[in-house]
Amino acid sequence: MAVGIFAAFLIAVGGILHFVGLRIAIEARPELARAMGGVLTQAEQDKIEESYKERLRLIQEKLQATTDEITQIQKLKDRFMEMATPAAVKSQIPTSTSGRGGPLKLVDNKNKAPVDLIDALDESLQDVNEFKRSVAEINALWAKQLTWLNSLPTGTPIKGAYNLSSGYGLRIDPFTQAMARHEGLDFSASVGTPIVASAAGVVSRSGWDSQYGNVVEVNHAEGFKTRYAHASQLVVRVGQTVKRGDVLAKVGNTGRSTGPHLHYEVIKAGAHINPVNMFPKNR
Ligand SMILES: [Zn+2]
Repeated sequence: MAVGIFAAFLIAVGGILHFVGLRIAIEARPELARAMGGVLTQAEQDKIEESYKERLRLIQEKLQATTDEITQIQKLKDRFMEMATPAAVKSQIPTSTSGRGGPLKLVDNKNKAPVDLIDALDESLQDVNEFKRSVAEINALWAKQLTWLNSLPTGTPIKGAYNLSSGYGLRIDPFTQAMARHEGLDFSASVGTPIVASAAGVVSRSGWDSQYGNVVEVNHAEGFKTRYAHASQLVVRVGQTVKRGDVLAKVGNTGRSTGPHLHYEVIKAGAHINPVNMFPKNR
């Protein structure tokens, strides 16, 4: 029992000495006291706060860059829609977000061990970096896809008012009155109406032909070629690179033609294709 009382006495003395010692230390050397008591100095706190701030700044910076990339994707999407959607149905495109769905996945925080704020910030930064990378990848892929689509003759070859006066296939030839294959599509329009490239490509012919009159031919990707005939005026030269929608010539009535119109042909690897099948649906 005496031993027990003595031990308790020693513990009490030790506690008092420690307390008094700390009190003295706080008055004499505050930094030392903070270190002893596990308290951080102002400089150390500032340093930690600085690293939080730096990480937050990095995350914000990355998020801004990602937002910019997403805006670019939005613009690309609009251009896809523009290319694929005839003007008449544009107004019918739903803009509401209703009808979207999919299961909602809640983030499960329960099993996550509590982490240091710096670790959490670093993890967020990594997530943002990964997200930014995949957004950039999608952007590049879409841009490539759009360039490819633009190089296929799916556009309308005329810019202005027109009537489809003659379809593709067998018809009675207006000159011979005999059945003959019509290998293109006739766009009846007034003289001077701009004839435009239905896709990006390189001009392979721009000149006179006894049948086609003033004629332009353009080579496109995937072995496609387009022909624009009976023009009153030619605007492009052979070897010239054109974009979709660039003016190639003006509608006229030259060559074997009975009135002002554009005769438009689509040829793939030497064989004619019905141009109607090249246009997006509903056009
Ligand atoms: Zn024709």
